[in-house]
Amino acid sequence: MSRPSLEILARAQEHGSRTALVDEEGELSYADLLSCAGHAAAHLLAGRRDLDEARVAFLVPPGRDFVTTQWGIWQAGGVAVSLCLTHPAAELEYVLADSDASIFVVHPQFEPMARELVAKREIRLVTTDEFRRVAPVPEVLVSSHRRAMIIYTSGTTGKPKGVVTTHGNIAAQISSLTEAWEWSGDDRILHVLPLHHIHGIINVLSCALWAGAVCEFLPRFDAGRVWDRIESGGLTLFMAVPTIYQRLIAAWEEADAPRRAAMTAGCLALRLMVSGSAALPVPVFRKWQELSGHALLERYGMTEIGMALSNPLRGERVPGTVGRPLPGVEVRLMNEAGQSIGDEQPGEIEVRGPGVFSEYWWRPAETSAAFHDGWFRTGDIAVCRNGVSTILGRNSVDIIKTGAYKVSALEIEQELLAHPAIEECAVVGVPDEEWGERVCVAIKWKSGNDLPLAELRTWCKERLAVYKIPSKLLSNVDLPRNAVGKVNKKEMRAWFTE
Ligand code: AMP
Repeated sequence: MSRPSLEILARAQEHGSRTALVDEEGELSYADLLSCAGHAAAHLLAGRRDLDEARVAFLVPPGRDFVTTQWGIWQAGGVAVSLCLTHPAAELEYVLADSDASIFVVHPQFEPMARELVAKREIRLVTTDEFRRVAPVPEVLVSSHRRAMIIYTSGTTGKPKGVVTTHGNIAAQISSLTEAWEWSGDDRILHVLPLHHIHGIINVLSCALWAGAVCEFLPRFDAGRVWDRIESGGLTLFMAVPTIYQRLIAAWEEADAPRRAAMTAGCLALRLMVSGSAALPVPVFRKWQELSGHALLERYGMTEIGMALSNPLRGERVPGTVGRPLPGVEVRLMNEAGQSIGDEQPGEIEVRGPGVFSEYWWRPAETSAAFHDGWFRTGDIAVCRNGVSTILGRNSVDIIKTGAYKVSALEIEQELLAHPAIEECAVVGVPDEEWGERVCVAIKWKSGNDLPLAELRTWCKERLAVYKIPSKLLSNVDLPRNAVGKVNKKEMRAWFTE
C-alpha cells in the first residue's frame, strides 16, 4: 500500500499492528483501523473519485466507529462535521443545514431519529454498519491546505458558528501538543470527553493516534468507571475539564480509606494529568494535588486556534494560570486602542500560527472581523506576569464593568470558592442603572450551609475590593452547563434580570 497523503493516516500505517484503540468491543490495531477507514471512504465515495470537500455530518458514539467514520471522510476528501450525541433534533438539524451536509452518517442506534431529520432535506443517510460491505478504494490525494473539519462552537451571541480547520491546521495543532507534552507510542490515555469538541477530538483522540499511543474509550463520563480504570493500572495520561475533576474528587471523598488509597496509587502511576476548556478553580487544583499527587497541568485554547498557552510539562505549574505559548504558537496581549502591551496589564489575547482556523463557515464578514493584521482576536482577556498568563475571562461575559472599574468574574469566582460552604458558583454582570453593571452571583452551597448575602459580603470584605463584592445572590440553583461543563452565563444573566 502506498503512503497515505494525510500525515495522521501515514503515521497510522507506520504504527501497523500496534493497538490504536480500545472500546466496548475490545482492541483494534492501527492497521485494522486504517482498513476500516478504507471501507468507509469507499462507501462514502459511492463511485466518485473525490468528495471534493463535501460536508459529511456524523453522529457516532466514541469508539472504533467514530474514528473509522472520521478517517473515512478524510480519506475520501470530505469535510468531517461531528455532531453532539446529546443535542436535541432541532440543534442537529441546524448543523445539518448550516454546514450544507450532503451525507449524514449515523450509528444504527440513531437511525430512526436520523430518518426523520433527513426526510426534510436532500441528504444521503448512511449507517456505520454499511461500511464493511464495500471494498476499499485507493485513497484520494488530499493536500494539507484542504478543509478537513468543521466544529460548531457557541459564541456569546447568535447561533453556533462552524469553525473550519484545514488538514494543515489540524496537523499543526497536534504537533504542537505532542511536542510540548512529549506524547509517545508508550502512552495510553483514557478518553472520557465528548467528540464534537476540540478537547476530545484533537487533544485526546488525534494526539494519541498521531503518536502511536493507545486511546481507550469510555462511552460517556462516569466517575466510578473512571476511578476503576485508573486503579486497574496501565494508563499514562488523563485529560479532562474542571467539572470532571470536581466529580472525581466527590467520588474520592465518598470512598472508604482502602479504596481511597487504591485510587491515589492509580493516579500516581500516570505521567501527566491535564485540565482545560474552562478555568480550573485553585481549590480544585489543590484538592486534586492532595488526593492524586498530581499538580494538574492547566492549558488554554479555543476551537478556533487549538491550544495556545500551557503550563510546563517539566517545571513549576502555577495554580490559577495557564502558562506560556505552546510550540509554534505566537500570543500577544492587546489594549483597547489596539496596541500590544507588556506584563502586568490586562489585554485581549491575540493568536497567530499554523494551527489557527481558516474561516467561519459561510460567514466571511465574521471571519474578517475576527482577525486583526493576521492575528486572531480571541475575545479572552488575560494578564501576563513574568511571561506566565492568567485568564481573566471572556471580554463580553466575564469582564464586568461596574462603576469606573473592570472586574474579572473568574477572579471573584476563584476567591469565593475558597469559602468552605460554597460548592460551586458563577459570577455575572447584570445591567444596572446606577453602576452600569452589577456583580451578581449564583451559589450552590454545600448541603445545609446556606449563607445570607450580608454574611457572604462580610466574608468577602477581607478578600476582595468592595466594588468586586457581589450585591445580588441566588442560592442553590443548578448552574446551566454545556457538554464540556462550561457555564452558560447568558442564561444565568437572565435569572437576575427577570
Ligand atoms: P471552546 O472553543 O469551546 O474550547 O472554548 C474556548 C474558550 O474556553 C476560551 O475562549 C476561553 O474563554 C475558555 N477557556 C479555555 N481554556 C481555559 C482556561 N484554562 N481557563 C479559562 N478559560 C478557558
